[in-house]
Amino acid sequence: MSKNNLINEWKRKKAPAKPETRLLLKKLKKKKGKQLDKHADEVHGNIFKNIDCLECANCCTSIPPIVNKTDASRIAKKLGMKPAAFEKEYLVIDEDGDIVMNTSPCPFLQKNNNCLIYEIRPKACRQFPHTDNLDFSKNMKLHGMNANICPGVFHILRRLGEVI
Ligand code: SF4
Ligand code: SF4
Repeated sequence: MSKNNLINEWKRKKAPAKPETRLLLKKLKKKKGKQLDKHADEVHGNIFKNIDCLECANCCTSIPPIVNKTDASRIAKKLGMKPAAFEKEYLVIDEDGDIVMNTSPCPFLQKNNNCLIYEIRPKACRQFPHTDNLDFSKNMKLHGMNANICPGVFHILRRLGEVI
């Protein structure tokens, strides 16, 4: 299967599938727990084997990631900047009071969709889309929003709906 198939399918179906996604989440919420998290982790692995994030980059383009203090000092050090200068140049407080990257697309996203600071990227970027590592049940509300942003989440929800 071409790695773009799942991304193209998501582009076609994400808007008309919104009511179906809501129903799926309702069904999955009733199954919240360790068993669901285990299934989600497996499905996550299978879906992401067939998605090339470098062909997508929609998360880096559309959601400014949270940058915590540890992230900020790690990245600032690597860029040879003082933490205060880094914060001034790249960070902002959003409407929820979180400290996030100040532009969307992210200032570190390159034209070829590579991340300029990939090895030292923020924890929020490493954890996105929160469907693996037995984190699935904790983030049900988020999955509903992310199905519209991330092809991976969209397909994971559907696959889980089939097997659960
Ligand atoms: S830091 Fe890197 S991985 Fe995170 S949003 Fe920016 S470009 Fe994407
Ligand atoms: S939105 Fe999802 S599929 Fe697209 S780059 Fe981000 S994690 Fe990968």
